[in-house]
Amino acid sequence: MRLGLKGFAGGGTFAHGVHPPGRKHYSSDAQIEVVPAPETLLLPLQQNIGAPSKPIVKARQDVLYGDVVAKSGGFVSVPLHSPVSGKVKKSAVTTLPTGLHIEAIVIKAEENQTAGNDFYADLTGADWPKNGIGEYDPNKIAEAINNAGIVGLGGATFPTHVKFMPNDKKPVHTLLVNGCECEPYLTSDYRLMLEAPAAIITGALLAGHALGARDIVINVEDNKMDAVDALRQAAQDTIIRIAVLKTKYPQGSEKHLILALTKHEVPLGGLPSDVGMAVSNVGTIAAVAMALIKDKPLTHRVVSVTGGGVARPANLLAPIGISCGELIEFCGGLNENASRMIAGGPMMGFPFIDLETPVTKGTSGLTILTEEDVQKAEETSCVHCGRCVDVCPMRLVPTKIALAGRHKDLELARRYNIMACFECGCCAYICPAGIPLVQLIRAGKVLIAAMNKP
Ligand code: SF4
Ligand code: SF4
Repeated sequence: MRLGLKGFAGGGTFAHGVHPPGRKHYSSDAQIEVVPAPETLLLPLQQNIGAPSKPIVKARQDVLYGDVVAKSGGFVSVPLHSPVSGKVKKSAVTTLPTGLHIEAIVIKAEENQTAGNDFYADLTGADWPKNGIGEYDPNKIAEAINNAGIVGLGGATFPTHVKFMPNDKKPVHTLLVNGCECEPYLTSDYRLMLEAPAAIITGALLAGHALGARDIVINVEDNKMDAVDALRQAAQDTIIRIAVLKTKYPQGSEKHLILALTKHEVPLGGLPSDVGMAVSNVGTIAAVAMALIKDKPLTHRVVSVTGGGVARPANLLAPIGISCGELIEFCGGLNENASRMIAGGPMMGFPFIDLETPVTKGTSGLTILTEEDVQKAEETSCVHCGRCVDVCPMRLVPTKIALAGRHKDLELARRYNIMACFECGCCAYICPAGIPLVQLIRAGKVLIAAMNKP
């Protein structure tokens, strides 16, 4: 196995985790296609972790592509921009796959929009600078990222400007750019690395400069060697290094990425900056480059629509606010054996049933599973095999936490460190008794959050 880990201490992997079948073949060869703008877009006001955005447009108001339609709702929040030119309609309430009911800005698009094609041409074009990045004021980079409404596109949706703000109290010496995409099925990051490596390199240089990082490393799993080659070529004559990590789930979790590469352990409840690092997904980094160099806010993102349940698996550049149903329709519709639709991948994603569900900034993919994929194994009693403990990358005891969650014993759940669980799904994946461990843990966390509300 060819591992590019010379000079990195971590050995390219971490303890525990699982090796689910990758199933990337459905969409890995599908070049990114631009989806035409739909007639109507629905922009939910909650598209970032933190405060919801606040609408600044009214019904019947005309908007142009890129206009701010909702301003940031606080420090940990971002503005929303219109992905099309058109007219604002009466607002609506939508339900996200997480179950959150949230108000959304509705925009009726003018005909013949070219924004998606222009966005793709800019993103994949060749004119991305590698020199002169040091002339940008680091504070202005963070400000531009904020103005562009960028959040973590890997799914975490943490506002990126907060992460990339220079901070003397917690200096960052290393920026890790996350191209691992360890979730089965999803290939949006992979295609981005193949088709837009120059934008990723420029974005990484900008983000590294904003942070004052000495070292910038792009991390890719060893099942994507052609992406490694594309990035290495684009990174020539820069300080950026490409590290090839072993294929394992959840390699893309920022704490485990740091561990795999450097052996540094982020303290429980801490952040990468506690060990002098920042981690950002490749899509986020490309969005940083689009904002700074092409002056384009985050209005479009790459989404994989994949799995055996969709007629034509694909990778799509989609306007934020298009419905999941329209993306599936663009891919030829559902196959007869389609059984479950998931926003995201099968390990960490959220099942949804409503085709009107809008694509948000955090939608990395739609995975459509077949009846065969969905093992409807009936839940049986825990056989105390300990496999869930063996695979938990956070070294928790999932069976105990889940049981505490099921019985609403929140004190016990806390004692077993429920909040340290990042819902990777390894325990549920491995459980021979079919116990929905993650769902029970998630439910416990929701109860704790509700209790903590003032
Ligand atoms: S307890 Fe949480 S962190 Fe541990 S394996 Fe289960 S979902 Fe992952
Ligand atoms: S893997 Fe499932 S059956 Fe085994 S100990 Fe954990 S909860 Fe029990």
